[in-house]
Amino acid sequence: MAQQHLFDLEPEPWQQDDQAETLVATVVLRDGPSQQLDYSVPDELRDQIAAGCRVKVPLGRGNRSVVGYCVRLENRMAGRPLKPIGEVIDRRSLLSTAMLRLTEWIADYYVCGWAQVLEAVIPAGVRGQAGTRLTTLLSVAADAERRMAELKLPEKQTKVMKVLARAKRPITPTQLAQAAGCGQGPITTLRRKGLIRSQTGRVQTNQAAAQPAVRESHLKLNADQQKAIDAILGTLNRGEHRTLLVHGVTGSGKTEVYIQAIQEVIHFGRQAIVLVPEISLTPQTVERFRSRFGQVAVLHSHLTDAERHWHWQQIAEGKVSVVVGARSAIFAPTPHLGLIVLDEEHESTFKQETAPRYHARDVALQRAQAERIPLVLGSATPSLESWHRAAQKEFTLISMPRRVLDRPLPAVGTIDLRTEIRRTTRGAISRKLHMAMQAALNEEGQVILLLNRRGFSTQIQCPACGFVLKCPECDIALTHHRTQEIALCHYCDYEVPAPSVCPDCDYAGIRYTGLGTQRLEAEVRARFPDVPCLRMDTDTMQGRGAHERALARFRSGEIKILLGTQMIAKGLDFPDVTLVGVINADTALHLPDFRAAERTFHLVTQVAGRTGRGAKGGRVLVQTYSPEHPAIVAAVRHDYAAFAAGELPLREMLRYPPFASMVRMVVRGPVEEVTQAFAQQLVERLQAMLAEKNVDARVLGPAPAPFARLRGRYRFQIHVHGPTSEPLREAVRELVTMKCPDEVQWIADVDPLDML
Ligand code: ADP
Ligand code: ZN
Repeated sequence: MAQQHLFDLEPEPWQQDDQAETLVATVVLRDGPSQQLDYSVPDELRDQIAAGCRVKVPLGRGNRSVVGYCVRLENRMAGRPLKPIGEVIDRRSLLSTAMLRLTEWIADYYVCGWAQVLEAVIPAGVRGQAGTRLTTLLSVAADAERRMAELKLPEKQTKVMKVLARAKRPITPTQLAQAAGCGQGPITTLRRKGLIRSQTGRVQTNQAAAQPAVRESHLKLNADQQKAIDAILGTLNRGEHRTLLVHGVTGSGKTEVYIQAIQEVIHFGRQAIVLVPEISLTPQTVERFRSRFGQVAVLHSHLTDAERHWHWQQIAEGKVSVVVGARSAIFAPTPHLGLIVLDEEHESTFKQETAPRYHARDVALQRAQAERIPLVLGSATPSLESWHRAAQKEFTLISMPRRVLDRPLPAVGTIDLRTEIRRTTRGAISRKLHMAMQAALNEEGQVILLLNRRGFSTQIQCPACGFVLKCPECDIALTHHRTQEIALCHYCDYEVPAPSVCPDCDYAGIRYTGLGTQRLEAEVRARFPDVPCLRMDTDTMQGRGAHERALARFRSGEIKILLGTQMIAKGLDFPDVTLVGVINADTALHLPDFRAAERTFHLVTQVAGRTGRGAKGGRVLVQTYSPEHPAIVAAVRHDYAAFAAGELPLREMLRYPPFASMVRMVVRGPVEEVTQAFAQQLVERLQAMLAEKNVDARVLGPAPAPFARLRGRYRFQIHVHGPTSEPLREAVRELVTMKCPDEVQWIADVDPLDML
């Protein structure tokens, strides 16, 4: 959130009778003061304006015209003269009243401007009406009937008028000519006579409708699934809001439960929204929904503006029963929502990392409460936030502890890298893992290898002088990418040719160390030269559809070894995968983030869940330097409850979420001292405000952020902890008025997930 300066808040007095009731439009501005401003609605705009429309309004002494959103309309005494609205931009409201309220909540909760939230919620394609074109639209003129009797029209023209009268909405001249079976002649004449009114309007350019797929019938649910569905349907039928946390191990049949619950919702003519992490929006997931329901709208990040606009309209018109999408699909304008499902609810991609920094789970909860419908959260490894709320009985916990068809969970073993690697090999793959791979491949199984670091070498260091090659803008070690022979910054994409001598002391033996997926791929190919192997990470999965194509090759059995970053750890359901190897479980374990252990537990458990899904069974080998770490021990035993029981007391002791609320602020600027000094001012103001209001809160910092410099900007962080978030947010909101030095910016992140 770039902080706005406060300027000319009050609309100028305007010549007007301030005693009478007037129609007052409350407007939030896109660029400008973040307050809500009142304007009067001139008579000629009364029929055009609605809450949820964009408007142009005069601002400041110069009355420059600025764009804003009308968020409220009411007839009342203005109390003081108001400036009038200049222009109404949209012909129809872009959002329902309920959705407007939801956006207001987001602006309030996440401490950002309401207009900024509206801009993020309403897709650009909808605002710009992408995929539509302006054209002439014809309708019957107001007094046409009376005048037709006087004029005694020729037969063709009479027919045209009849056809036009039957049309439900204005149509184009071409459509009219076609329907009336004539040329443009009679139409032009009728327009000249004033019997046909013409106006300019928008029509949708053609969009291919989604193919309703073949319908598959339901599976017969097992006892755990039946219990889960009964609980969901119970709340549905009571017409109340309830959040149900479905804790089901990988492969326990959660998706089948969602599908059958959705079926019930559709039955009553209502819609369902299914939120999944972007990465799970694979054909596999989508196909499962398409094969059961006819009209499914799939909202993913690769849609064009026109496609997004088209989906938005289809959804708003109630033509779509099920919306499947990533985070922002929570804003789908379903007219009659019946159920929200959020799968893999622990995934951090549900949180938006740019303003508005909302978490789709919390927005979903808010929406479900307002619409009085159930919210279903599903995961094999719930976030500790949700788990804690279930323990407090705020959420209803539903357990599905077994895999379907009595398939066992895979056996997980650890390989202690401290002894194993040194003793047996110089590469990344220990002897035990190599042998397990060989055995799996011999038995026609497939192998998944997880390494959560891309590139070839993750560090380039001179052994003579100790120099480490870093990004000049970000202060982060550059990663060697061998395909292009470059050293690359994973933050800002800065790159230099990979050096062969130390840039600092010219020593010729500069060393490339640290393991990335490229190096792992090279090792796998060297160890198993005849086995087809594929690497999946953001470097290889660039183009549209690359992800889908790669998975299709793995599914078909053409590829035997799939290796990659966390993008291969989640959601995949391939029955022939009999071995999963985790190359280094510790990559995230020691990050300066209070969720490091939780993240590690999630990742190892999730990737372990990719095997043993078919009749052949499966096993998992986890290479780690910390086999005794509680997160690893719990993951090895598939024991979520034990992990939570060990971790939660630590969180409570240190006053971290879910036992406290937190706001993280990051102050950035090009000059270190100036940035730090301003961060210090923020801290002092915060402390003063919180003390004044007797809020039990702690303010930590300013301290250099773990990534202390990114893209040439110094970064300082401030952490504010307190028992509840409201007073913290209130205090932070008041900081907006502080004068910020040029080029220094700060953001506030409520309930932060990114701690770097
Ligand atoms: P989860 O979402 O919990 O990982 P899924 O719903 O993907 O589990 O189910 C795993 C596999 O088991 C899928 O291939 C699914 O088709 C199958 N499955 C789910 N429920 C049943 C059932 N009741 N009977 C037979 N197979 C089932
Ligand atoms: Zn950089």
